[in-house]
Amino acid sequence: MEVLNLINGSHGPAEGGKWLDLIDPSKGSSYGRLPRSGTADVDKAVKAASNVFDEWSSWSAEKRSACIDRLADKIQEYAEMLAEAETRDNGKPIGLASTVDIPRAEKNLRFYASAIKHFASESHYMEGVAINYTLRKPLGVVACISPWNLPLYLFTWKVAPALAAGNCVVAKPSEVTPATAFLLSKWVKEAGFPDGVFNILHGLGAEVGDALVKHPDIAAVSFTGGTATGAHIASVVAPKFKKLSLELGGKNAAIIFGDCDFDEALSTTVRSSFANQGQICLCGSRILVERSIYDKFRDALVEKAARIQVGNPLAPSTKMGAVVSEQHRDKILEHIEIAKQEGGKILCGGFATQPEGEDEFSGGYYIQPTIIEGLGTECRTNQEEIFGPVVTIQPFDSEEGAIENANSTKYGLAASIFTNDLKKAHRVAGNLETGIAWINCWLLRDLRTPFGGVKDSGVGREGGFEALHFFTEPQNVCVKL
Ligand code: NDP
Repeated sequence: MEVLNLINGSHGPAEGGKWLDLIDPSKGSSYGRLPRSGTADVDKAVKAASNVFDEWSSWSAEKRSACIDRLADKIQEYAEMLAEAETRDNGKPIGLASTVDIPRAEKNLRFYASAIKHFASESHYMEGVAINYTLRKPLGVVACISPWNLPLYLFTWKVAPALAAGNCVVAKPSEVTPATAFLLSKWVKEAGFPDGVFNILHGLGAEVGDALVKHPDIAAVSFTGGTATGAHIASVVAPKFKKLSLELGGKNAAIIFGDCDFDEALSTTVRSSFANQGQICLCGSRILVERSIYDKFRDALVEKAARIQVGNPLAPSTKMGAVVSEQHRDKILEHIEIAKQEGGKILCGGFATQPEGEDEFSGGYYIQPTIIEGLGTECRTNQEEIFGPVVTIQPFDSEEGAIENANSTKYGLAASIFTNDLKKAHRVAGNLETGIAWINCWLLRDLRTPFGGVKDSGVGREGGFEALHFFTEPQNVCVKL
């Protein structure tokens, strides 16, 4: 595969002619290349986008919506091909790519194609004196930067509201997983977007990403990725007074009370721990279990986790594929070593592995699902984001203790609570320092709801009209009666 940039309606390599290797993490080998873009490519893309902004932003919401819908049609039409591309690029099981990543990418586009037609502005009546109404204006050229864990899913989650609201976009998918954004770029013209409205640049975050956020004509930055990168981007963008949305890391707790529906809590926790090889920002990486059921729950969880086999991500039966890169595998393994040094007991997994009897995958990056016991709240293992198939399990004795433990990290993205006592569930949810709390479920998503984290997990919210608010500037108009 040769990935190319999309700038002003045309595909091409990076200006400097440099390339990066495209790696298949299931085999650890290169299967293509992508442009290593830089400042010159950013300049070209931002200029093209600026030139067409007046035209695009003057289109009716219906007309912009139709373009986004046509792009969604393409995702629907080529869903199978996109799922395979996502799996090859990322290492995730094809079952996940074809039932979650790709359908959700289509849904994101359809949702904002529809939402923009229902996006009403507010008005405030001052009795007998004046009427205020709020205009919502697009911002201009915006940067959308997305990570590798849910590549097309999170890419579309940003570009859809940005485009729907009338902005022109320069998007940068992760260099580690650029394939599906590239495939999408092939249909942009056919969907009816004027040239320059939607540009996609590939390359390294520290190069093209950095040049993009620093560009003086970029009005806003919507970023999803690691907390350290988010802090760096904030330090660049804040003095320029650009709008900034940050969706960052997490260290989410799953709180399991003794009065829960045991089987449901167990199967959901297996999923929330290991789905996508644990590489979802919402994964529950700290499992807190009420002492009355601790031993039973731990043993059942370990039994289920130990039975998960890593396999060829493209095989339909595979539930656990490869982690995204060699570097990321090594980082996860390093965290497992730290856990051992901290006195953690590895209950299952704890090592790199490979699909059984399949030499083709011997160079791939696989880690056996890992559960660690015996660590306190303050240790690095329970404080730092690992972002892999590694969880810790701890007992708790009281509701207050569970809440205190859940809130004890610098992160505040999500948590899940399992109990049949609804009053307790609401009470605990309200006391958690997170942007999202799930009761008796995990990853149940309604696209209308606000999505994002508190503390070091981010600033601002995506989802529903929140994203349309972010991608527009309100102007109050006051009319004296
Ligand atoms: P990174 O922060 O490394 O990268 C995210 C994106 O930013 C990539 O496209 C990256 O490019 C780019 N980037 C890196 N450095 C810069 C820079 N200096 N300027 C501009 N862009 C830059 O995160 P990962 O890709 O490793 O993603 C994993 C992280 O994302 C985890 O911490 C996870 O928790 C978080 N995440 C948060 C979510 C949320 O909604 N809160 C959802 C999903 C993930 P490149 O890859 O080329 O370096």
